[in-house]
Amino acid sequence: MSRELLELSAAEAARRVRAGDLSASELFEFWRGRAEGDETGSYLWVADAPGDEPESGPLGGVPVAVKDLFCVEGVPSAAGSRILEGYRPPYTATAVSRLREAGAPVLGKTNQDEFAMGSSTENSGFGPVRNPWDPERVPGGSSGGSAAAVAAGTAPWSIGTDTGGSIRQPASLCGIVGLKPTYGAVSRNGMIAFASSLDQCGPFGRTVEDVALLASVLVGRDPCDSTSLDHPEGIALPSAERLDGVRLGVWGLGEEGLEPGVAEQVRRALGLAEELGASTEEIALPHAGHAISAYYVIAPAEASANLARYDGVRYGKRTEADELLDMYELTRHDHFGEEVRRRIMIGTYALSSGYYEAYYGTAQKVRTRIVEDFRAAFENVDLVVTPTSPTVAFKLGERTSDPLAMYLSDYYTTPMSLAGIPAVSIPCGLSEGLPVGLQVVGPAFAESRILDAAHALERAIGFEGVPRT
Ligand code: GLN
Repeated sequence: MSRELLELSAAEAARRVRAGDLSASELFEFWRGRAEGDETGSYLWVADAPGDEPESGPLGGVPVAVKDLFCVEGVPSAAGSRILEGYRPPYTATAVSRLREAGAPVLGKTNQDEFAMGSSTENSGFGPVRNPWDPERVPGGSSGGSAAAVAAGTAPWSIGTDTGGSIRQPASLCGIVGLKPTYGAVSRNGMIAFASSLDQCGPFGRTVEDVALLASVLVGRDPCDSTSLDHPEGIALPSAERLDGVRLGVWGLGEEGLEPGVAEQVRRALGLAEELGASTEEIALPHAGHAISAYYVIAPAEASANLARYDGVRYGKRTEADELLDMYELTRHDHFGEEVRRRIMIGTYALSSGYYEAYYGTAQKVRTRIVEDFRAAFENVDLVVTPTSPTVAFKLGERTSDPLAMYLSDYYTTPMSLAGIPAVSIPCGLSEGLPVGLQVVGPAFAESRILDAAHALERAIGFEGVPRT
């Protein structure tokens, strides 16, 4: 029985619960046991019991693991940061409430880079996460716990957030599916903020169908987030088996820094796409190569403002001092990690008078150019395809002393974040025995189209996940 439960996709388990063929409480107990036994460091907290989620809902009682930065009432929610250790919010994030109302109980809180700043989960205040394909390697980040748990079979599915790649890149490095929806499609209410013009909640799963099912209940306008909006089409479950007539624009295969083994697997997948009836052509996104530079001005600038609230007064930890200013400074010095302090300094500098136009202003202009690049591309092609990460999973410690090398992990994911458009990463093969991800990108609100294409490709690729024990 337990072997069978482990192999079922989450969508299939939900169908069985709703048909009365599977007990939701047994299913919860099974996954709770798996989460308790997790050896990847993916969990920071595991739930004791489900709430009163309706089994008849579309998510059919299948429990969901939730990145630590989603506030859940009464449950430790620290965004991977020591400064918030022990904080139990008085309310629940809208995304989590929507999952619960649709029938999915919370299984646990997953480990992440502190305040979602990182690409390896090594910046967590609570220890790193290990990649289920090789425990000496990182799972990617910042949503590394949410990705590794699904890959290791210690969660059926999960949610994370993506500001510059934090869903797609860990999905790629762990060999699973991860979707960053259109900016504003999912409410940010109750998500502990990093960079508000970029932060986006989205799902992880083993299959494109699982990810589409979670996304379909996550999206929608929320009066508590004025930047959220109703999805004009909603998200449909994918069914495509062919790609006849679909024009794919391929970007980034000639870029410096792309591992040959990654390029080879992406090319192989493009060959399969052609066999399914798609056409492929290389396209130019002339400013996308500058996305990393613009991102690392805009995201730290917004972070420096968002993180001003951690001052020892309102939330979390405090270091006592005789003077108020000393208390602020010592609290922030003692309880923020190194990367967070680096970003606050970069962001504060970029926003300071005399530098604002030169740095922040210029980065915003680059952002606009990238938006225009995609708009022009989508006049000639239906979807854009790129590698998700320039490399396969790297070793723990390999990039921790070189922030710029770490930042380049998001070379292929930051352009879509700056443009606010949806993108899904699916596994497309192995290089050096480690998973390679392929990214399918569409115009704003084209989630159903990119998921349909990803579904057809997934079937043709036939990727096998990490063997589960
Ligand atoms: N790795 C990128 C960063 O460190 C993106 C993180 C994210 O998407 N949250 O900012």
